[in-house]
Amino acid sequence: MAQIYLDNAATTKMSKTAIKAMLPYMDEIYGNPSSLHSVGQKAAEALTESRRRIAKRLGCDEKEILFTSGGSESDNQAILSAATIGERKGKKHIVSTAFEHHAVLHTLQKLKKHGFEITLLPVSEDGLITEQQVENAIRPDTCLVSVMYANNEIGTIQPIEKIGEICRKKGVIFHTDAVQAVGHVRVDVQREHIDMLSLSAHKFHGSKGIGALYVRKGIPLTSLIEGGAQERGKRAGTENIPAIVGMAVALDEACENMEKNTKKLTKLRNMLIDGLSTIPHSVLNGDCEKRLPTNVSFCFEGIEGESLLLLLDDKGICASSGSACTSGSLDPSHVLLAIGRVHDIAHGSLRLTLSEENTEEEIKYTVSAVKEVVAYLRGMSPIWRDLVNGKKEFIIK
Ligand SMILES: *Cc1c(COP(=O)(O)O)cnc(C)c1O
Repeated sequence: MAQIYLDNAATTKMSKTAIKAMLPYMDEIYGNPSSLHSVGQKAAEALTESRRRIAKRLGCDEKEILFTSGGSESDNQAILSAATIGERKGKKHIVSTAFEHHAVLHTLQKLKKHGFEITLLPVSEDGLITEQQVENAIRPDTCLVSVMYANNEIGTIQPIEKIGEICRKKGVIFHTDAVQAVGHVRVDVQREHIDMLSLSAHKFHGSKGIGALYVRKGIPLTSLIEGGAQERGKRAGTENIPAIVGMAVALDEACENMEKNTKKLTKLRNMLIDGLSTIPHSVLNGDCEKRLPTNVSFCFEGIEGESLLLLLDDKGICASSGSACTSGSLDPSHVLLAIGRVHDIAHGSLRLTLSEENTEEEIKYTVSAVKEVVAYLRGMSPIWRDLVNGKKEFIIK
């Protein structure tokens, strides 16, 4: 069997339609959209058209879309902009959650050094926070609430619309890192009262190195990159036209096929969850209902996640232990710790993230491969022997 790719939360394969749409902008329409001649103006038209299409999919105005280099940059700019606005008004308190992406958490840590107070809401064992927690955390000096739409490790979807309602009522800027959600679930910035939203093309079959930040009209942005007047002076640098065109096409494609894909993916996801749940002393991470149709995350007791990944790779399965950004570090995932998994358990994690290209056959093969590898690794593990012999107590019953 060929490679089975189950790491779509790390990145996705590019859409053929998107690649096709991008090619002319790397070839004959190579102009700089700021140039006044016809080659430049053709590029400028593509830029306008792509912005319009992306805005339509999010339910906002095209003037509210800023192109960036991806999710990380969008998160940084959103948070730093809200902090700048807050500081001017003497509001230096920010509410976020303990299981955000590092693009959010590290930006907040930076602000802490500049005198901001950060409240990180604790996450339930199901991987969810409530709108009530947000409401209780907001103070008169709160300038920003930043809550991710869907978690990148455990796939749980937060009550964004309700959080948006509360923030709007309290007059606090609401940012959401929707990198895992856009193109996968319906997102509507109007209905959900979102003020700022980060997205990234390579998570929905667009190219890497391109993303966008939606910013509601009237909220002033702080630039991270100084230079020319591109993006209304808020993000200097010649626009990456091929990637922007590809992002718009990939998003249209994802949204048009969303219903059909969701149906297929939910079925595959549930097959995986049901199959892996039969492994003794295993636990699903994150709520089983309020989760992305693409995400499966498990912890297996008595296992090292890294060994599991290497052996699965030998069997042709590309998986992850958690987030791509933390792999290579020995620290257990902050997301798994946030939902209350202890270190030993968090180390035995496996994340499988689907795309609509996966098949039932691949899923069946994966379930049996994971079962086999988990049993093999446990068979060699002294910790497992102690657990089985009753010298240590199982944590996952
Ligand atoms: C991938 C990801 C990011 C980072 O996006 P890049 O485009 O790779 O910079 C941010 N947040 C979440 C939730 C992600 O999954």
